[in-house]
Amino acid sequence: MCYAIPGKIKRIEGKKVVVDYFGEEKRALNEFHQLKVGDYVSAQGGFVIKKVEPQDAKDTLVAWKELFFELQEIDLQLSRLKPKDKKLNKDLSRILDKALEGYQLKKEELLYLLEREKPDELNMLYASANFLRQKYHKNSCCIHGIIEISNHCSKSCQYCGITLTNQRLKRYRMSPEEIVSAACEAVEKYGFQALVLQSGEDPVYKVEDLATIIGNIKKKVPVLICVSFGEVGLDGLEKLYQSGARALLMRFETSNPELFKKLHPGQTLDSRLAHLRRAQELGYIIISGGLIGLPGQTKEDLINDILLAKDLRTEMYSFGPFLAHPETPLADSPKLSENEVLKVLALARLIDPEKAKILVTTAFETLSLRARKTGLSAGANSVMLNVTPETYRKKYDIYPDKVYSETSLKAQITETIDLLKSLGRAPTDLGVSQ
Ligand code: SAH
Repeated sequence: MCYAIPGKIKRIEGKKVVVDYFGEEKRALNEFHQLKVGDYVSAQGGFVIKKVEPQDAKDTLVAWKELFFELQEIDLQLSRLKPKDKKLNKDLSRILDKALEGYQLKKEELLYLLEREKPDELNMLYASANFLRQKYHKNSCCIHGIIEISNHCSKSCQYCGITLTNQRLKRYRMSPEEIVSAACEAVEKYGFQALVLQSGEDPVYKVEDLATIIGNIKKKVPVLICVSFGEVGLDGLEKLYQSGARALLMRFETSNPELFKKLHPGQTLDSRLAHLRRAQELGYIIISGGLIGLPGQTKEDLINDILLAKDLRTEMYSFGPFLAHPETPLADSPKLSENEVLKVLALARLIDPEKAKILVTTAFETLSLRARKTGLSAGANSVMLNVTPETYRKKYDIYPDKVYSETSLKAQITETIDLLKSLGRAPTDLGVSQ
C-alpha cells in the first residue's frame, strides 16, 4: 500500500489497522502508534507511518476527493482494452486472454510474448498489462525518493560504474549529519514518506553506523526507510531492521548463477538470495529484480528473473536496462531498445498482476526520455525520484548520463506530478504536500 493520503481507521485487527481510502479498504501494520477506530493515519508499504490530526486529514481529503475521482476516470478510460483486431496473431491473442482471465502463463507462453517484435503485437501486450495494473491497483502510483549516500565500493561488479576498479571516479561519502538532514528535508519540505538510502558496499560505513543514521532519521521524521547498501550480512539486516528500516532494495541482478558469477567476481547468487530470503523473514518489504540486456543473458534468463522475483515475494519489482559504462570491462556492449525493457515490465505485470508494484527505473528513464509514460502504460505503477544533494548526484555514476542529475528536486516533483495527472494516476505518496 502506498497511500500517503490520510485514511480513516475502520477496524483494528490485532496489530493491523483497516483503513478506508475513498471507499477502498487497505490494511497496514501498526508498530509504533496508539491508535483507535476513527483515527486518521497515513501509511506506506503496509506500515502506519504517522497519525494525522483529524482536521488536517479532513482538509487534505476534501482537497483531494474531487481530483481523485477525476483522475480515476481518466485512468479507467486510458486502460480500457480496445476490441481486438481480427487480423491479430491468434497465438498471441490466446495467451493474452489467458493472462487477462487470471491464469498463470507457462514458461513457453511467456517466452513467446518476449519474442514479439511487431508494433501492433507489442501494443496489445502493453495494453493487457496496463489493464491488469488498473484492475488490481487502480490509479495509485508510488513515488519514493532515493538518497545515494556514498559511491565508495569494495566490489568489482563488471557492469557498474562505481566498481572498485574505476580509478577515474571521484569518490564521495555523505556524513551522517548530511544524510539525516537530506532525509529530513525530503520529508518535511517535499512531503516524501518513503526513502531509499543507497550506496556502494562502502567499507567505512559499518552496519552499526548505518543503524545509528537510520535511528536518527526515524527519531526526527515519520518515513518508511528502505536500505540498499548491498550485502550487509544476515545479522546486519537484523540490526538495520531493529534500527527502523522496513524495506530492502536489493536486486539479484540475474537469476542465472553462472552469469552472476562472471559479472560479480568473488560473489555468489546464493549469498545475495540468502539476504533477500532472510530480509523477507525479518519482515522487510522486498524490492528486487535484475538487469535487462546483460551480455550473455538469454530470453529464458529474463523469464526466470521475473519468476524468481515473484518467488522471493517481491513487493516492488525493479527491472531496468543495463547501460554500458565506459570505465568498466563491459564498456563496448550494445545499447538496448526501449521495447526490450517494456516487454519485461509488461511480463512482470502478467506474472504477478495482483501484488506487484512495478518500478519505472531511472536507468530506463536514462535510456529513453519517454520511459515514464510508456512504462506506466505497460504495467508499471511506481517511480523513484533522486533526492541526493545535487553536489553529489553526478558522482553516483553507476551508468553514464544519468537523467535528472542536474534537475532540482522541485522540478522533478512538478514534472512527475504533471505526467501522473495526465495519465490519470494519483501521485498519492506526495499528495499531502501538494
Ligand atoms: N550496493 C548496492 C547498490 C548497488 S547500485 C547493492 O549491491 O545492491 C544499484 C543498482 O544499480 C544495482 O543493483 C544495479 O542493478 C544497478 N546498476 C549498476 N550498474 C548499472 C549499469 N551499468 N546499468 C544499469 N544499472 C546498473
